[in-house]
Amino acid sequence: MGRKRKKKSGIIGRYFGYLLLPVIVYGWASGNMSASFILIASSLTFLYMLFAVPAWCMAETRQGLPCRRNSNGLLLGCSIREHKWQKLKMAFRAGKWGELSGKFWNNTANAAAAVSALAGVGSALAAVITLVTKK
Ligand SMILES: [Zn+2]
Repeated sequence: MGRKRKKKSGIIGRYFGYLLLPVIVYGWASGNMSASFILIASSLTFLYMLFAVPAWCMAETRQGLPCRRNSNGLLLGCSIREHKWQKLKMAFRAGKWGELSGKFWNNTANAAAAVSALAGVGSALAAVITLVTKK
């Protein structure tokens, strides 16, 4: 009693999206997994990287510097509401994609998440093609 409860959901909960990657790789390499399962796992990885992965906010602050606060997901900003909107708005404007993806490569945590997101998309597309072409 009187003890503070930690709100953190544990390291596995926070990083579960990364755990899906070896599963997907194994699925492709072994050929034992159905393409629809890989498609689901890949899509989950992609969504996790965009909306849940621990990353840096990197939204532009009033001083013109990237925000260094922690955020969840590449597309979501930190707890500052303006930052959330700033990044989501960029995602919906094609002309801003270069600027937005530039933010992903600025630090290791974000770059790892961006690479994983790309891998998820690639794997999901390959799974779709496999499903469509399979007779
Ligand atoms: Zn921020």
